[in-house]
Amino acid sequence: MRMDMEELRIQGTDHVLRPGKLVCVGRNYLAHAREMKSDAPTEPMLFLKPASSLTGFGGQILLPPQSDDVHHEVELVVVVGRRLCRATPDEAIDAVAGLAVGLDLTARDIQQRAKERGHPWSVSKGFDTFAPLGTVVEADPEQPRRISLKVNGTIRQKASTADMLFPVADLLVYASGIFTLHPGDLLFTGTPEGVGPVREGDLLEAEIEGLPILEISADRRR
Ligand code: ZN
Repeated sequence: MRMDMEELRIQGTDHVLRPGKLVCVGRNYLAHAREMKSDAPTEPMLFLKPASSLTGFGGQILLPPQSDDVHHEVELVVVVGRRLCRATPDEAIDAVAGLAVGLDLTARDIQQRAKERGHPWSVSKGFDTFAPLGTVVEADPEQPRRISLKVNGTIRQKASTADMLFPVADLLVYASGIFTLHPGDLLFTGTPEGVGPVREGDLLEAEIEGLPILEISADRRR
């Protein structure tokens, strides 16, 4: 079982990158912000996940004993291929090395307690295996794509990446104005509505039009 990823390979190329920061965006789809009883943000809402939460092909989601309510969030993931510091929109798009479908797993019970206390989200978002990532391919980051997630064959999330409040270029410009992005850094662009629980034995199929499907099952961490 693979617990983490030492390197990211861009399929069909000899481009190999070392995953660094996982920059994630909260509330980037209006319908998801509403289901979380949150307002639409007026600027991107960023948080980080550790690179140790990545799991790839052949991996498994391990549900941690600290949470009784782990949620799936299907997301378009952008792989940065070039250093970006205070980038312009054109520089940002040019620096995209590839795209993949990913999951931003979230311990919703822990996150809810953190929100109530004004604490950070790192614990709720950062467990090992909480960032499953599909195969990375070269693809246009600005093209609208259907995005969906099935659990045990039933559709749970379904939308279009065109519904993002802040598109990829805006997110990279904003993020690179705060922290320099390095080759191998990943941008998780937020989830559409329909988030819900992942249980032991579930099979998740995350799909984004034009990208390789991500299939991963969940087990309890023992
Ligand atoms: Zn998310």
